[in-house]
Amino acid sequence: MKVSIIGTGYVGLVTGVCLSDIGHDVTCLDINPNKINLLKHGKSPIYEPGLEELMAYNIKKNRLNFTTSHSEGLRDAEVVYIAVGTPQAEDGSADLSYVMQAAKDIACHISRDTIIVTKSTVPIGTNYKIKQVVLEHLQEDVTVDFVSNPEFLREGSAVEDTFNGERIVIGSENEEAADKMEALYEPFRIPVLKTSILSAEMIKYAANAFLATKISFINEIANIAEKVGADVEEVAYGIGKDGRIGDKFLQAGIGYGGSCFPKDTHALVKISEESNHDFHLLKSVIKINESQKSVLYQKAKKRFGSLAGKRVALLGLAFKPETDDMREAASITLSEKLLNDQAEVIGYDPIAIENAKKVLPEGVIYTDKIEDAVKQADIVFILTDWKEVIEKTLVLTCLFHEQPVLFDGRNCYSLEEVQKFNIEYHSVGREAVR
Ligand code: NAD
Repeated sequence: MKVSIIGTGYVGLVTGVCLSDIGHDVTCLDINPNKINLLKHGKSPIYEPGLEELMAYNIKKNRLNFTTSHSEGLRDAEVVYIAVGTPQAEDGSADLSYVMQAAKDIACHISRDTIIVTKSTVPIGTNYKIKQVVLEHLQEDVTVDFVSNPEFLREGSAVEDTFNGERIVIGSENEEAADKMEALYEPFRIPVLKTSILSAEMIKYAANAFLATKISFINEIANIAEKVGADVEEVAYGIGKDGRIGDKFLQAGIGYGGSCFPKDTHALVKISEESNHDFHLLKSVIKINESQKSVLYQKAKKRFGSLAGKRVALLGLAFKPETDDMREAASITLSEKLLNDQAEVIGYDPIAIENAKKVLPEGVIYTDKIEDAVKQADIVFILTDWKEVIEKTLVLTCLFHEQPVLFDGRNCYSLEEVQKFNIEYHSVGREAVR
């Protein structure tokens, strides 16, 4: 099928590349000329494992194109995806300005019957607003159908997730359009769930809110475990064995970040308020996560008293491993707090340093070698459990420090392993090793 994708971010680009790989004729459109320029030269503007190779293959096969031109990008498209950002507005709601602009752009440039598919995460009812905007701006006598098709990929494994997703949700009020979308996805062989538009929109927010709740829940259990002398890793394993609970998303640490959970939980609170419902539970989830980001900082303050003049290495700056995305990363909160206390901050990340420089406060010193970060530091913090960070930090801290002290925000090591080293080790939800 002839498919166009508006927005070449983590979702739009991965979707476009994967759809071209299963044989569709895909054009990816973005208003950012720098991104399109890079893409035209076969370079991905984002770090996502396996993406660039797959892009190169499909560009060569002549079924993957990039453009900034709406007329070029939308002409003849049978299916147009909206995959632009829906960032958090000041009041906590989802900012729909990019989505609505995309809707206008589509309406002004399509020239045949089209299905408009919303992949961006949007508040419940937004597809109806999109429909209204499109119908107001249509230039040609064409029929347009609307489908809500929320995205569940995870950054860091987005390509893998697109090919091996657990379900594809297709929300539509038109059976023919839903069937066409099912046919488009057929080569992925992923179960398709057909729902109403409103349910599809709600599924996305409910899924993210539930996952965020699981994380905040285990983090609260971790905080209590520390006080009562239990070990959160043993507790998580013990409860995760119960099929009703499941063992995923029970990793205690310094909280969730990224481009989705923080903004989507806030947006759902806002959506609830607008429906006169007070979502107490989700408000607590958000609050717990905010304070969880400071847990390592609190532990370091308790241990050292003042952090002024201390050099602290932050290992892993991205919000999670295998991505260069810095949105809502714990490194932002921690570097601000540490610099405020007159500590020196040395930042290291295997991939995200260039993006980190754009968002971390001035004053952070960067190094592109984990060895240098640990060597220069008085105190080491693990913020992101990159494979390299796990493999090297314990050994390097012992090697370079006379009295090694490690604060691990991702519980990268078992206490048994740590006890083999001569190190003071503080983690989350477990007793300290001294
Ligand atoms: P992103 O910020 O990485 O990319 C958005 C892209 O849209 C940018 O390249 C921007 O230049 C482009 N854009 C904005 N307005 C445009 C317009 N009018 N025409 C063409 N291009 C335009 O965003 P993302 O992380 O890919 O997220 C996109 C949507 O998908 C959001 O609603 C997000 O909540 C949702 N989502 C994201 C993820 C994720 O892991 N990132 C997962 C599931 C769902």
